Amino acid sequence: GLEIRLASRPQGLPTMDNFDVVEVEAPQPGEGELLVRNLVMSVDPYMRGRMNDAKSYVPPFKLGEALQGGAVGEVVTSNVEGYQPGDLVLHMFGWRDYAVVPAQHATKVDANIASPNAYLYVLGMPGMTAYAGLVDVAEQKEGDVVFVSGAAGAVGSLVGQIAKLRGAKKVIGSAGSPEKVKYLLDEGGFDAAFDYHDGPVREQLAKAAPEGIDVYFDNVGGEHLEAAISAFNDFGRAAECGMISQYNNETPQPGPHNMMMIVQKRLKIQGFIVGDHSHLKDQFFNEVGGWLNEGKINYRETVVEGLRNAPDAFLGLMRGDNTGKMLVKIA
Ligand code: NDP
Repeated sequence: GLEIRLASRPQGLPTMDNFDVVEVEAPQPGEGELLVRNLVMSVDPYMRGRMNDAKSYVPPFKLGEALQGGAVGEVVTSNVEGYQPGDLVLHMFGWRDYAVVPAQHATKVDANIASPNAYLYVLGMPGMTAYAGLVDVAEQKEGDVVFVSGAAGAVGSLVGQIAKLRGAKKVIGSAGSPEKVKYLLDEGGFDAAFDYHDGPVREQLAKAAPEGIDVYFDNVGGEHLEAAISAFNDFGRAAECGMISQYNNETPQPGPHNMMMIVQKRLKIQGFIVGDHSHLKDQFFNEVGGWLNEGKINYRETVVEGLRNAPDAFLGLMRGDNTGKMLVKIA
């Protein structure tokens, strides 16, 4: 099988040269381990951070080693009690055809409840991120006006719909193309949406939300964050989920110019990492899983075929190639 390794650390925007596609022997599982044939894997913006040799909330990828990331695969050989060949497992050893997965890093998933893809999207990490950000961090209340950037992506598309299902008065999204704006309005449940290329975000947001916003779910940072601070009503709350507009900067950008409004409007602006919110897991699974079963959640997947094309799928996140979740079909 193949595995994809980090060949070099990117300067600025990553390129295909930063990856190596290598043919390897199928690995052998030891005691307490599973041999898993991967079916589908996730590429995520946070992986850009792990490509740098810098201290963060997850350790950097190692040069010359296979990358890691969320994947769902089928057990081929089991040295673990309770796991049989054919079982589906969610784990963190993507970027390879065959993975050796220690039992404590595997989560059994049930294809009768949801598709393998769903465990990487609506019922997986992106879904949980959307939910935790709204519930725990932004403390979303009924009647709030909610603004989401990166609205047509995996997390953003779910934020809009979950916010609405939890009683938002209005949800506004921004995204990077006219097609994405149309998707948000026609299928994504958004009340208003704009393309951030069409003019200053502050002006477009003011037009979309003349009543002001109460919650900002930030996936993008930069100009979007500054615009949200300007649009906030008193006691507004921002869930700082990500700042993808900054991930490839080689030098930090200046921050928002309107920070005094944080004081004047008594805003709360809080960063979060989804892994710290696992106390919400059952509640998330019941509530969002219920909506999914009832057909109340519209979701889109952008599926790239073939492990070999995973580096390009990852680069595609930076180009905005995806609507909804970017996934790589391995087998
Ligand atoms: P997405 O599915 O949203 O994919 C990334 C999207 O970002 C692209 O489709 C593109 O859409 C947009 N984008 C790329 N470059 C820019 C730019 N310069 N300015 C504005 N938009 C840009 O990814 P995810 O849903 O997986 O992640 C969304 C955000 O959430 C990221 O910031 C990520 O780091 C963060 N995240 C944080 C977690 C946490 O625990 N805190 C967990 C998971 C994700 P477009 O066409 O609209 O530009």
